[in-house]
Amino acid sequence: MPKTPAYAVKNAKTPFEPFSIERREPRAHEVLIDIKYCGICHSDVHQVRDEWGRGIFPMVPGHEIVGIVAKLGDKVSKWKAGDTVGVGCFVDSCRECAACKDGEEQFCEQGATFTYNSYERDGKTPTYGGYSTRMVVDENYVVRIPDGIPLERAAPLLCAGITSYSPLKHYGVHAGSRVGVVGLGGLGHMAVKLAHAMNANVTVLSHSPDKRQDALRLGADDFIATRDAQVFTQHAKRFDFILDTVSAQHDYNAYLGLLQRGGTLVLVGLPEPSPLSAGPLIMGRRQLAGSLIGGIRETQEMLDFCAAHGVASDVEVIPIQQLNQAYERLLKSDVRYRFVIDIATLQNE
Ligand code: NAP
Ligand code: ZN
Ligand code: ZN
Repeated sequence: MPKTPAYAVKNAKTPFEPFSIERREPRAHEVLIDIKYCGICHSDVHQVRDEWGRGIFPMVPGHEIVGIVAKLGDKVSKWKAGDTVGVGCFVDSCRECAACKDGEEQFCEQGATFTYNSYERDGKTPTYGGYSTRMVVDENYVVRIPDGIPLERAAPLLCAGITSYSPLKHYGVHAGSRVGVVGLGGLGHMAVKLAHAMNANVTVLSHSPDKRQDALRLGADDFIATRDAQVFTQHAKRFDFILDTVSAQHDYNAYLGLLQRGGTLVLVGLPEPSPLSAGPLIMGRRQLAGSLIGGIRETQEMLDFCAAHGVASDVEVIPIQQLNQAYERLLKSDVRYRFVIDIATLQNE
Protein backbone atom coordinates (compact mmCIF):
# COMPACT_ATOMS: atom_id res chain seq x y z
CA MET A 1 0.00 0.00 0.00
CA PRO A 2 1.32 3.53 -0.70
CA LYS A 3 2.36 5.63 2.31
CA THR A 4 -0.56 7.04 4.31
CA PRO A 5 -0.56 10.80 5.05
CA ALA A 6 -0.93 11.70 8.73
CA TYR A 7 -0.12 14.39 11.29
CA ALA A 8 2.21 13.53 14.15
CA VAL A 9 4.18 15.02 17.00
CA LYS A 10 7.81 13.87 17.07
CA ASN A 11 8.07 14.27 20.86
CA ALA A 12 6.14 15.79 23.78
CA LYS A 13 7.58 19.27 23.23
CA THR A 14 7.10 19.73 19.49
CA PRO A 15 3.98 20.83 17.54
CA PHE A 16 2.10 18.70 15.00
CA GLU A 17 3.61 18.38 11.54
CA PRO A 18 2.81 16.35 8.41
CA PHE A 19 4.05 12.77 8.65
CA SER A 20 3.52 9.56 6.74
CA ILE A 21 2.86 6.06 8.06
CA GLU A 22 2.61 2.49 6.79
CA ARG A 23 -0.82 0.84 6.78
CA ARG A 24 -0.80 -2.86 5.87
CA GLU A 25 -3.08 -4.59 3.35
CA PRO A 26 -6.09 -5.93 5.30
CA ARG A 27 -5.55 -9.47 6.64
CA ALA A 28 -8.31 -12.09 6.42
CA HIS A 29 -10.52 -10.57 9.16
CA GLU A 30 -9.58 -6.92 8.70
CA VAL A 31 -11.14 -3.98 6.92
CA LEU A 32 -9.48 -0.95 5.35
CA ILE A 33 -11.33 2.24 6.30
CA ASP A 34 -11.11 5.56 4.44
CA ILE A 35 -11.26 8.04 7.31
CA LYS A 36 -13.64 10.97 6.84
CA TYR A 37 -13.62 12.73 10.23
CA CYS A 38 -11.71 12.41 13.49
CA GLY A 39 -12.60 14.15 16.76
CA ILE A 40 -10.02 15.75 19.05
CA CYS A 41 -10.36 14.37 22.59
CA HIS A 42 -8.67 15.96 25.59
CA SER A 43 -6.94 12.58 26.09
CA ASP A 44 -5.10 13.33 22.81
CA VAL A 45 -3.77 16.48 24.48
CA HIS A 46 -2.68 14.61 27.64
CA GLN A 47 -0.94 11.97 25.51
CA VAL A 48 0.93 14.15 22.99
CA ARG A 49 2.25 16.17 25.96
CA ASP A 50 3.16 12.84 27.62
CA GLU A 51 1.28 13.79 30.78
CA TRP A 52 0.45 10.13 31.46
CA GLY A 53 4.02 8.90 30.78
CA ARG A 54 5.11 6.00 28.55
CA GLY A 55 4.34 8.00 25.37
CA ILE A 56 5.36 6.28 22.11
CA PHE A 57 6.75 8.82 19.60
CA PRO A 58 6.28 9.85 16.84
CA MET A 59 2.61 9.85 17.88
CA VAL A 60 -0.38 10.06 15.51
CA PRO A 61 -3.38 10.52 17.85
CA GLY A 62 -7.10 10.22 17.13
CA HIS A 63 -9.65 7.78 18.52
CA GLU A 64 -12.96 9.31 17.47
CA ILE A 65 -12.93 7.99 13.93
CA VAL A 66 -15.63 7.69 11.29
CA GLY A 67 -15.13 6.56 7.73
CA ILE A 68 -16.17 4.28 4.93
CA VAL A 69 -15.16 0.65 4.45
CA ALA A 70 -12.97 0.61 1.32
CA LYS A 71 -11.51 -2.90 1.20
CA LEU A 72 -12.11 -6.22 2.95
CA GLY A 73 -9.98 -9.17 3.99
CA ASP A 74 -11.26 -12.39 2.37
CA LYS A 75 -12.89 -13.75 5.55
CA VAL A 76 -14.72 -10.58 6.63
CA SER A 77 -18.40 -11.32 7.23
CA LYS A 78 -19.71 -8.29 9.14
CA TRP A 79 -19.01 -5.51 6.64
CA LYS A 80 -19.17 -4.69 2.98
CA ALA A 81 -17.47 -1.99 0.91
CA GLY A 82 -19.25 1.35 1.33
CA ASP A 83 -20.47 0.76 4.91
CA THR A 84 -20.25 3.77 7.22
CA VAL A 85 -18.32 2.74 10.31
CA GLY A 86 -16.62 4.00 13.43
CA VAL A 87 -13.52 3.12 15.42
CA GLY A 88 -13.08 4.25 19.02
CA CYS A 89 -10.31 4.01 21.60
CA PHE A 90 -9.13 0.44 21.06
CA VAL A 91 -8.58 -1.76 18.00
CA ASP A 92 -7.90 -5.18 19.54
CA SER A 93 -7.73 -7.15 22.81
CA CYS A 94 -6.94 -10.74 23.86
CA ARG A 95 -10.54 -11.94 23.23
CA GLU A 96 -10.17 -14.69 25.87
CA CYS A 97 -10.12 -13.11 29.34
CA ALA A 98 -13.19 -12.56 31.51
CA ALA A 99 -13.41 -8.87 30.57
CA CYS A 100 -13.22 -9.59 26.82
CA LYS A 101 -15.81 -12.35 27.15
CA ASP A 102 -18.10 -9.93 29.01
CA GLY A 103 -17.82 -7.45 26.13
CA GLU A 104 -15.75 -5.04 28.24
CA GLU A 105 -12.66 -5.23 26.06
CA GLN A 106 -11.41 -1.87 27.39
CA PHE A 107 -10.55 -3.72 30.62
CA CYS A 108 -8.81 -6.65 28.85
CA GLU A 109 -6.64 -8.44 31.41
CA GLN A 110 -3.80 -8.77 28.87
CA GLY A 111 -4.16 -5.06 28.05
CA ALA A 112 -6.31 -3.78 25.20
CA THR A 113 -4.54 -2.56 22.06
CA PHE A 114 -5.39 1.13 22.06
CA THR A 115 -5.96 2.93 18.78
CA TYR A 116 -2.73 4.92 19.13
CA ASN A 117 0.14 5.23 21.59
CA SER A 118 -0.05 1.46 22.07
CA TYR A 119 1.35 -1.73 20.53
CA GLU A 120 -0.40 -4.34 18.45
CA ARG A 121 -0.80 -7.87 19.83
CA ASP A 122 2.77 -8.64 18.69
CA GLY A 123 3.92 -6.25 21.44
CA LYS A 124 6.19 -4.26 19.13
CA THR A 125 4.28 -2.66 16.23
CA PRO A 126 3.12 0.83 17.29
CA THR A 127 -0.49 1.80 16.58
CA TYR A 128 -1.36 5.08 14.84
CA GLY A 129 -4.71 6.82 15.20
CA GLY A 130 -7.21 8.75 13.14
CA TYR A 131 -5.26 11.92 12.30
CA SER A 132 -4.55 10.07 9.04
CA THR A 133 -6.37 9.21 5.83
CA ARG A 134 -6.97 5.48 6.35
CA MET A 135 -6.56 2.63 8.79
CA VAL A 136 -6.81 -1.15 8.95
CA VAL A 137 -8.84 -2.69 11.79
CA ASP A 138 -10.14 -6.14 12.72
CA GLU A 139 -13.82 -6.40 11.78
CA ASN A 140 -14.82 -7.16 15.39
CA TYR A 141 -13.48 -3.84 16.66
CA VAL A 142 -15.49 -1.69 14.26
CA VAL A 143 -19.01 -0.31 14.89
CA ARG A 144 -21.79 0.78 12.56
CA ILE A 145 -22.73 4.47 12.32
CA PRO A 146 -26.54 4.43 12.07
CA ASP A 147 -28.23 6.39 9.28
CA GLY A 148 -29.37 9.85 10.25
CA ILE A 149 -26.37 11.02 12.30
CA PRO A 150 -24.27 13.46 10.25
CA LEU A 151 -20.79 11.92 10.04
CA GLU A 152 -18.85 14.82 11.51
CA ARG A 153 -21.28 14.93 14.46
CA ALA A 154 -20.99 11.15 14.94
CA ALA A 155 -17.19 11.07 15.32
CA PRO A 156 -17.11 12.34 18.95
CA LEU A 157 -19.59 9.66 19.98
CA LEU A 158 -16.80 7.07 19.61
CA CYS A 159 -15.08 8.37 22.76
CA ALA A 160 -16.92 11.31 24.37
CA GLY A 161 -20.29 9.63 23.71
CA ILE A 162 -19.49 6.17 25.05
CA THR A 163 -17.47 7.49 28.01
CA SER A 164 -20.55 9.39 29.17
CA TYR A 165 -23.14 6.76 28.24
CA SER A 166 -21.45 3.80 29.96
CA PRO A 167 -21.48 5.14 33.56
CA LEU A 168 -24.98 6.64 33.16
CA LYS A 169 -26.20 3.13 32.27
CA HIS A 170 -24.01 1.24 34.75
CA TYR A 171 -25.24 3.32 37.71
CA GLY A 172 -28.86 3.10 36.62
CA VAL A 173 -29.59 6.73 35.79
CA HIS A 174 -33.28 6.88 34.86
CA ALA A 175 -36.23 9.24 34.45
CA GLY A 176 -36.17 11.73 37.32
CA SER A 177 -32.62 10.94 38.53
CA ARG A 178 -30.93 14.11 39.76
CA VAL A 179 -27.72 14.17 37.71
CA GLY A 180 -24.84 16.65 37.95
CA VAL A 181 -22.32 16.98 35.10
CA VAL A 182 -19.05 18.68 36.08
CA GLY A 183 -17.25 20.40 33.18
CA LEU A 184 -19.03 21.32 29.96
CA GLY A 185 -16.50 20.18 27.35
CA GLY A 186 -16.48 17.30 24.87
CA LEU A 187 -17.47 14.63 27.39
CA GLY A 188 -19.64 16.97 29.48
CA HIS A 189 -21.83 18.17 26.61
CA MET A 190 -22.44 14.54 25.55
CA ALA A 191 -23.28 13.60 29.15
CA VAL A 192 -25.87 16.41 29.26
CA LYS A 193 -27.49 15.32 26.00
CA LEU A 194 -27.51 11.62 26.93
CA ALA A 195 -28.79 12.07 30.50
CA HIS A 196 -31.47 14.45 29.18
CA ALA A 197 -32.49 11.81 26.60
CA MET A 198 -32.81 9.36 29.53
CA ASN A 199 -35.24 11.89 31.07
CA ALA A 200 -32.98 12.63 34.02
CA ASN A 201 -33.02 16.04 35.69
CA VAL A 202 -29.64 17.45 34.62
CA THR A 203 -27.55 20.22 36.16
CA VAL A 204 -24.25 21.46 34.72
CA LEU A 205 -21.51 22.51 37.16
CA SER A 206 -19.01 24.67 35.30
CA HIS A 207 -16.07 26.97 36.00
CA SER A 208 -17.07 28.99 32.88
CA PRO A 209 -20.11 31.16 33.78
CA ASP A 210 -20.60 32.10 30.10
CA LYS A 211 -21.63 28.52 29.26
CA ARG A 212 -25.00 28.85 31.06
CA GLN A 213 -27.14 29.47 27.95
CA ASP A 214 -25.42 26.68 26.05
CA ALA A 215 -25.96 24.25 28.93
CA LEU A 216 -29.69 24.95 28.92
CA ARG A 217 -29.84 24.70 25.11
CA LEU A 218 -28.05 21.32 25.21
CA GLY A 219 -30.73 19.96 27.53
CA ALA A 220 -29.70 20.88 31.08
CA ASP A 221 -32.44 21.88 33.53
CA ASP A 222 -30.11 24.01 35.65
CA PHE A 223 -26.61 25.51 35.69
CA ILE A 224 -24.28 26.15 38.64
CA ALA A 225 -21.21 28.39 38.26
CA THR A 226 -18.61 26.77 40.52
CA ARG A 227 -16.20 29.73 40.82
CA ASP A 228 -18.37 30.93 43.73
CA ALA A 229 -17.44 28.58 46.61
CA GLN A 230 -20.80 29.24 48.33
CA VAL A 231 -22.60 27.07 45.80
CA PHE A 232 -21.10 23.98 47.45
CA THR A 233 -23.02 24.77 50.63
CA GLN A 234 -26.16 25.98 48.86
CA HIS A 235 -26.48 22.79 46.81
CA ALA A 236 -25.26 20.26 49.41
CA LYS A 237 -26.87 16.80 49.03
CA ARG A 238 -28.69 17.77 45.86
CA PHE A 239 -27.67 14.98 43.45
CA ASP A 240 -28.08 11.20 43.12
CA PHE A 241 -25.27 10.92 40.61
CA ILE A 242 -22.46 13.19 39.44
CA LEU A 243 -20.24 12.64 36.40
CA ASP A 244 -16.95 14.53 36.71
CA THR A 245 -15.37 15.19 33.30
CA VAL A 246 -12.85 17.85 34.33
CA SER A 247 -9.42 17.56 32.69
CA ALA A 248 -7.54 19.75 35.22
CA GLN A 249 -6.78 19.21 38.90
CA HIS A 250 -9.66 20.16 41.24
CA ASP A 251 -11.17 19.30 44.64
CA TYR A 252 -13.18 16.05 44.49
CA ASN A 253 -14.20 16.40 48.16
CA ALA A 254 -16.28 19.49 47.37
CA TYR A 255 -18.28 17.59 44.74
CA LEU A 256 -18.83 14.59 47.04
CA GLY A 257 -20.64 16.99 49.39
CA LEU A 258 -23.21 17.66 46.65
CA LEU A 259 -24.34 14.02 46.70
CA GLN A 260 -27.29 12.85 48.71
CA ARG A 261 -27.08 9.75 50.96
CA GLY A 262 -25.74 6.79 48.95
CA GLY A 263 -25.05 8.95 45.90
CA THR A 264 -22.21 8.23 43.47
CA LEU A 265 -19.51 10.47 42.03
CA VAL A 266 -17.97 8.93 38.90
CA LEU A 267 -14.65 10.29 37.67
CA VAL A 268 -13.95 10.11 33.96
CA GLY A 269 -11.61 13.11 33.67
CA LEU A 270 -7.98 12.13 34.21
CA PRO A 271 -6.00 15.10 35.58
CA GLU A 272 -2.99 15.11 37.93
CA PRO A 273 -3.73 13.39 41.29
CA SER A 274 -5.47 15.44 43.98
CA PRO A 275 -6.09 14.75 47.70
CA LEU A 276 -9.15 12.89 48.92
CA SER A 277 -10.66 12.96 52.43
CA ALA A 278 -12.56 10.07 53.99
CA GLY A 279 -15.07 12.43 55.66
CA PRO A 280 -17.36 13.27 52.72
CA LEU A 281 -17.51 9.57 51.76
CA ILE A 282 -18.33 8.35 55.26
CA MET A 283 -20.88 11.05 56.03
CA GLY A 284 -23.67 9.84 53.77
CA ARG A 285 -22.26 6.48 52.67
CA ARG A 286 -21.30 8.10 49.39
CA GLN A 287 -19.45 6.30 46.65
CA LEU A 288 -16.55 7.40 44.49
CA ALA A 289 -15.93 5.48 41.29
CA GLY A 290 -14.22 5.71 37.93
CA SER A 291 -15.17 4.59 34.44
CA LEU A 292 -13.25 3.92 31.21
CA ILE A 293 -14.89 4.36 27.78
CA GLY A 294 -17.07 1.26 27.01
CA GLY A 295 -16.90 -2.07 25.17
CA ILE A 296 -17.74 -2.68 21.52
CA ARG A 297 -21.25 -3.99 22.22
CA GLU A 298 -22.12 -1.05 24.46
CA THR A 299 -20.62 1.42 21.96
CA GLN A 300 -22.99 0.08 19.28
CA GLU A 301 -25.88 0.30 21.79
CA MET A 302 -24.95 3.95 22.48
CA LEU A 303 -24.83 4.80 18.75
CA ASP A 304 -28.25 3.23 18.22
CA PHE A 305 -29.58 5.13 21.28
CA CYS A 306 -28.24 8.39 19.81
CA ALA A 307 -29.88 7.71 16.43
CA ALA A 308 -33.21 6.87 18.11
CA HIS A 309 -33.15 10.01 20.30
CA GLY A 310 -31.68 12.48 17.79
CA VAL A 311 -28.50 12.91 19.82
CA ALA A 312 -25.21 13.97 18.19
CA SER A 313 -22.20 16.04 19.17
CA ASP A 314 -22.01 19.83 18.70
CA VAL A 315 -18.87 20.23 16.65
CA GLU A 316 -16.49 22.78 15.20
CA VAL A 317 -15.01 21.22 12.05
CA ILE A 318 -11.42 22.26 11.34
CA PRO A 319 -8.90 21.61 8.57
CA ILE A 320 -6.01 19.45 9.83
CA GLN A 321 -3.62 22.36 9.25
CA GLN A 322 -5.23 24.06 12.30
CA LEU A 323 -4.42 21.26 14.75
CA ASN A 324 -1.90 23.21 16.83
CA GLN A 325 -4.28 26.17 17.28
CA ALA A 326 -7.14 23.82 18.17
CA TYR A 327 -5.02 22.23 20.93
CA GLU A 328 -4.27 25.67 22.38
CA ARG A 329 -7.97 26.51 22.40
CA LEU A 330 -8.89 23.16 23.98
CA LEU A 331 -6.51 23.92 26.85
CA LYS A 332 -8.45 27.16 27.45
CA SER A 333 -11.85 25.34 27.43
CA ASP A 334 -12.54 27.38 24.26
CA VAL A 335 -14.46 24.87 22.14
CA ARG A 336 -18.20 24.49 21.50
CA TYR A 337 -18.05 21.51 22.12
CA ARG A 338 -15.77 19.23 20.11
CA PHE A 339 -13.18 19.94 17.45
CA VAL A 340 -13.48 17.50 14.57
CA ILE A 341 -10.86 17.25 11.83
CA ASP A 342 -12.09 17.12 8.24
CA ILE A 343 -9.72 14.46 6.91
CA ALA A 344 -10.36 15.56 3.28
CA THR A 345 -8.07 18.52 4.09
CA LEU A 346 -5.24 16.01 4.64
CA GLN A 347 -6.04 14.03 1.51
CA ASN A 348 -5.74 17.19 -0.58
CA GLU A 349 -2.47 18.33 0.96
P1 NAP B 1 -12.56 19.10 27.31
O1 NAP B 1 -13.40 19.15 26.11
O2 NAP B 1 -11.31 19.93 27.36
O3 NAP B 1 -13.49 19.42 28.57
C1 NAP B 1 -12.99 19.46 29.89
C2 NAP B 1 -13.80 20.50 30.66
O4 NAP B 1 -13.25 20.54 31.98
C3 NAP B 1 -13.67 21.90 30.15
O5 NAP B 1 -14.54 22.21 29.10
C4 NAP B 1 -14.01 22.71 31.38
O6 NAP B 1 -15.42 22.78 31.54
C5 NAP B 1 -13.46 21.85 32.51
N1 NAP B 1 -12.17 22.40 32.96
C6 NAP B 1 -11.05 22.56 32.23
N2 NAP B 1 -10.08 23.14 32.95
C7 NAP B 1 -10.59 23.34 34.17
C8 NAP B 1 -10.08 23.90 35.38
N3 NAP B 1 -8.81 24.38 35.44
N4 NAP B 1 -10.88 23.92 36.45
C9 NAP B 1 -12.13 23.45 36.37
N5 NAP B 1 -12.69 22.93 35.25
C10 NAP B 1 -11.92 22.87 34.18
O7 NAP B 1 -12.04 17.60 27.59
P2 NAP B 1 -12.77 16.19 27.27
O8 NAP B 1 -12.31 15.72 25.95
O9 NAP B 1 -14.20 16.29 27.61
O10 NAP B 1 -12.03 15.25 28.34
C11 NAP B 1 -12.18 15.51 29.73
C12 NAP B 1 -11.28 14.58 30.54
O11 NAP B 1 -11.75 13.24 30.39
C13 NAP B 1 -9.82 14.55 30.09
O12 NAP B 1 -9.01 14.44 31.27
C14 NAP B 1 -9.73 13.29 29.27
O13 NAP B 1 -8.43 12.73 29.23
C15 NAP B 1 -10.67 12.39 30.03
N6 NAP B 1 -11.23 11.26 29.26
C16 NAP B 1 -11.48 10.12 29.95
C17 NAP B 1 -12.08 9.05 29.32
C18 NAP B 1 -12.40 7.82 30.09
O14 NAP B 1 -12.69 6.79 29.48
N7 NAP B 1 -12.39 7.86 31.40
C19 NAP B 1 -12.42 9.14 27.97
C20 NAP B 1 -12.17 10.34 27.30
C21 NAP B 1 -11.59 11.40 27.96
P3 NAP B 1 -16.12 24.13 32.12
O15 NAP B 1 -15.60 25.23 31.27
O16 NAP B 1 -17.56 23.86 31.96
O17 NAP B 1 -15.72 24.23 33.56
ZN1 ZN C 1 -11.05 10.14 24.11
ZN1 ZN D 1 -8.90 -9.78 27.13
